[in-house]
Amino acid sequence: MRSLVWFRGKDLRVADHEPLFEAMTSGEVIPLFVLDPYFFSPDRARELPHRMQFLLDSLRDLEASLARLGSRLLVVPGRSVDVVPRLAAEWKVDQVLAHRWVEPFGRERDRRVGESLERMGVGFRLFEGETLLAPGSVRNGQGAMFRVFTPFSRAASARLNLGPSRPAPPSLPPLPEDLLARTIPIPSMEELGLARNPDLQPGGEGNARSRLQAFATGPIRSYGTDRDRMDLPGTSRLSADLKFGTLSVHAVWQAAVAAERGESGRRYLTELLWREFSHHLLWEWPELLQQPFRPDFAGFPWPQDEGAWVAWTEGRTGYPVVDAAARQLLAEGFVHNRARMVAASFLTKHLLLDYRLGEAHYMRWLTDGDWAQNNAGWQWSAGCGCDAQPWFRIFNPVTQGRKFDPDGAYVRRWVPALAECPTAFIHEPWRAPKSLRSHFDYPDPIVDHAFARQRFLATARGYLGRTGAGNPG
Ligand SMILES: Cc1cc2nc3c(=O)[nH]c(=O)nc-3n(C[C@H](O)[C@H](O)[C@H](O)COP(=O)(O)OP(=O)(O)OC[C@H]3O[C@@H](n4cnc5c(N)ncnc54)[C@H](O)[C@@H]3O)c2cc1C
Repeated sequence: MRSLVWFRGKDLRVADHEPLFEAMTSGEVIPLFVLDPYFFSPDRARELPHRMQFLLDSLRDLEASLARLGSRLLVVPGRSVDVVPRLAAEWKVDQVLAHRWVEPFGRERDRRVGESLERMGVGFRLFEGETLLAPGSVRNGQGAMFRVFTPFSRAASARLNLGPSRPAPPSLPPLPEDLLARTIPIPSMEELGLARNPDLQPGGEGNARSRLQAFATGPIRSYGTDRDRMDLPGTSRLSADLKFGTLSVHAVWQAAVAAERGESGRRYLTELLWREFSHHLLWEWPELLQQPFRPDFAGFPWPQDEGAWVAWTEGRTGYPVVDAAARQLLAEGFVHNRARMVAASFLTKHLLLDYRLGEAHYMRWLTDGDWAQNNAGWQWSAGCGCDAQPWFRIFNPVTQGRKFDPDGAYVRRWVPALAECPTAFIHEPWRAPKSLRSHFDYPDPIVDHAFARQRFLATARGYLGRTGAGNPG
């Protein structure tokens, strides 16, 4: 049996890789990565510089791991829908094995590849692995997808029956020489017209494993209390690893269970289930990438305000936590979850700008930018998503700052103009005495919190009120 193992950017590892394991146990293994212009054309790559850097690092690491095991990663340019069936025919493979994607465009790609392979009599098997449970498999008593997280997480936990995750294979069969003619080198950032950002987390399975190990032997024990603190390294920072599959979610789950059985460990598993929920949601409702989950939010009158938009993206709103989040995003392709929530609430509620603008901006700059999780995060924040915070809940960026960045260390790190600001004013520098304020090169608030709050409530109540949903009760 000759199997083509098609690595596709969300499973860049050799450990706990079901398609690789399956291929290995049934005969010859051909590891393939397709440089599809959908992601790798220079125009497209420029739209995702941080994700691209992490992906290229991880691809190189995968190439090295496969070589160590005695095989090779074949890297072939072209559209996946053409390349995979063509190579399957040319190389006379019996089956193509890959991990399933939940995104609508990934499903469409797989449908087309599957059809072509079927016509050729070549098997095409998709394995679960991006999620803990097959998307679409967690249903309520009526057989429908859950619309609320807590019952979803209960049902998902009850169905989970995870054995140990698989280690990397000890070796792989060598590739027939004649296949090597097709492979090209993995492109560099420069070849894609991108500059390397040295402040990004490095990709690759080895780095991912070290990060998991560091988290599981330390911060996980206080995760329950520290996870919301923007000033502490209290979270796992594994989101890009989960996104690109340099770790399997299965392995992360098992490592967390083994490391911490108390409340902190349970809290961490709950976050992995939020990840699971967002993937199952997108599987069930692919239109979420275009539309709000709540139908009464469709057509919501989000006005345009170019000045406010630019201030938010550049971190010049005058609200320190919001600005720190914007600058952290551009600088290191990551934003603390609490800061994401505050910044997203601010964009949609204080500035009344469409959540889809923020969603696209985050997808551009986040290293962990993930269609399912990012969409769910933005819709949750705007109040229009599945099991979102109620639309009338509006984060106060000052009180959020005081609570989750009590000494202002997070703000000082990302907004150096406020480095010398006394802690008493760090989250509302406009209240500092004039003599002090003149030392900070920092703007006044773009909008008054109380005014913005009332404006959003009035707009939303007026719009949603037409359907009765506008009454917060
Ligand atoms: C507006 C907004 C946009 C977001 N966009 C993304 C995104 O594009 N990609 C992404 O991975 N996460 C996204 N999140 C969720 C969350 O902010 C990140 O997963 C988290 O900050 C990553 O840091 P960590 O790995 O240290 O998380 P940890 O706290 O260590 O959590 C462990 C893992 O659980 C998952 N997770 C944690 N919180 C959530 C959550 N609220 N929803 C879904 N999964 C979660 C992540 O995979 C994370 O790596 C977004 C949240 C918001 C509010």
